[in-house]
Amino acid sequence: MIDLHTHSIASDGSDSPARLVALAAGAGLSAFSLTDHDTLAGLAEAKTAAEAVGVRLVPGCELACEVPTGGMHVLVYFLDDGPGPLQDQLARLQTGRGVRNVGILRVLAEHGMDISVAEVMAEAGDGSVGRPHIAAIMVRKGYVESFSEAFDLWLATGRPAYLGRDRLTAEETISLAHASGAVAVLAHPTTLGLNRNKAGEFIAGLAEAGLDGLECEYGRYPPEERALWHALASELGLCPTGGSDYHGVYKPDLALGTGLGDLCVPDELLEELERRRPASAGGSDGLAGQGGRQGVAPG
Ligand code: AMP
Ligand code: ZN
Ligand code: FE
Ligand code: FE
Repeated sequence: MIDLHTHSIASDGSDSPARLVALAAGAGLSAFSLTDHDTLAGLAEAKTAAEAVGVRLVPGCELACEVPTGGMHVLVYFLDDGPGPLQDQLARLQTGRGVRNVGILRVLAEHGMDISVAEVMAEAGDGSVGRPHIAAIMVRKGYVESFSEAFDLWLATGRPAYLGRDRLTAEETISLAHASGAVAVLAHPTTLGLNRNKAGEFIAGLAEAGLDGLECEYGRYPPEERALWHALASELGLCPTGGSDYHGVYKPDLALGTGLGDLCVPDELLEELERRRPASAGGSDGLAGQGGRQGVAPG
């Protein structure tokens, strides 16, 4: 069993990367992927811990992409920390986050909430800094009653302290992922907010653009929803994948590996995903370059 979707303190999870590895080993997983939002900052720690316990770590991240309606998250797998086309864009996105956070704090200050950039950085540590960290400080300082109130009143899309930020399009993400020796998978497709037909058309367009997989087995999806996405993946020739979207205490009902309790993502899906890696992909991963995408050169 594997889990291809987890978050650590390097973005908006509550557990350290090493702790995720311990949970993965405890759940009996053969492999798991750390997919923090917009950052690879947790990978080094996870890699060391994973090697020590003999769980395979699939390096990755999750990106929120530009989309006309709803929300679109793309998971990228086999993306190593270091220089590279997509990695360079992640650095640019981090800079954009910094600018946006300053803007959010300015709006909050106008409403009598005094939070400094230094406080936010201290809250976040290394990695992606964003609204969850600001929300946590708002709670601690008594400006709001709860984390969800911070979003509902101030930080959520359309609320007074909401600011947009730079995003890549899905097409850019897919081609940058391939150029970096990685693969791209559409996360939790229900979040697109499209009905089955519209989602089918939309995802067919992404498949045309080179999308590799579809996250059919998602922690929160009931069996019929998983079956629906499996059918679409098979129709479009996409690799079905799956994961819990574990965030530690921030999504307390979701366990790493098993999600709500019934998730069980088979090892074979990772093997199939790996066969979709760009053929000339190098990297530290042992199986890199075997099989591979036919006729598509990265770059
Ligand atoms: P950011 O990356 O700064 O845009 O923040 C996005 C993160 O904020 C998401 O990954 C969630 O963890 C959290 N988040 C977004 N919307 C909400 C919401 N309405 N309630 C609680 N948390 C949210
Ligand atoms: Zn998250
Ligand atoms: Fe997501
Ligand atoms: Fe996620």
